[in-house]
Amino acid sequence: MIITSTPIIQADHLSVHYGGGREIALEDVSVTLNAGERIALIGPNGAGKSTFIKAVMRMLTPSSGTITVSEDPLKIGYVPQSDDVKWDFPVTVRDVVLMGCTRQIGWLRLPSRAHHRTVDHALEQVGLHVLADVPIGDLSGGQRRRVFIARALAQEARLLILDEPFSGVDVSAQGDLMAVLDRLNADGMTILLSTHDLDLAYRHFDQVMAVRRRLIAYGIPSDVFCSDTLAQLYGARIVTHHSDGHAMTMYVDDHHCSEC
Ligand code: ADP
Repeated sequence: MIITSTPIIQADHLSVHYGGGREIALEDVSVTLNAGERIALIGPNGAGKSTFIKAVMRMLTPSSGTITVSEDPLKIGYVPQSDDVKWDFPVTVRDVVLMGCTRQIGWLRLPSRAHHRTVDHALEQVGLHVLADVPIGDLSGGQRRRVFIARALAQEARLLILDEPFSGVDVSAQGDLMAVLDRLNADGMTILLSTHDLDLAYRHFDQVMAVRRRLIAYGIPSDVFCSDTLAQLYGARIVTHHSDGHAMTMYVDDHHCSEC
């Protein structure tokens, strides 16, 4: 874990509206995220997590305010939400990772042996080298996320942004994915990841950014996971347990029972 105080993402009074201003997804968010850290982005459904990520990725334009990313855009790796990917597209794992080398290969040129070695190395780093020639549609949820991480490695990314990478991924695959992310972070990669897994965010991340349209809190997990912040994020649906002096386990009671 490398802790620095070099800003990598700075939002300054960032607001994003959809539908010609009818839907306010983010409002007046000011925050500075530092390089070298593992940052968990949390908040309930519809809180604006994906919108923040898309603003960082320049996939949408702020309605007001700014977002500045101090990294070469070509060195930002992106792992989209699973639903945003057409998994039946006829490409292999190798093809997807090779896309990360597009800048080095150049348009309308064929990849060289060196590019294929880069791909092999990236796949080895995420433990998928034996699946290089398999169609991406045949992979499990956790493996699919790792293919996109390998693409980021082939791209020599320094900042990796993942939109809900753990949704639909079982606990063991989640552990594999987190181990890959920890290794990359130990090598200096900044990681920004949105998740609904509050326990993971609490135990496994250096910083937590909590949003619900506005920025509710940003800081180290033990500061962010206080009952006030959780109540602002999830209302009465959150239950907290202090299992010992340090750890906290949280459950979101999301069954929407009308009698509760
Ligand atoms: P989260 O990732 O936290 O679930 P989102 O950023 O996807 O939240 O959405 C924030 C709000 O913006 C929600 O109310 C959602 O319905 C709305 N929204 C997201 N994308 C669009 C879109 N393309 N058009 C209109 N509204 C959208």
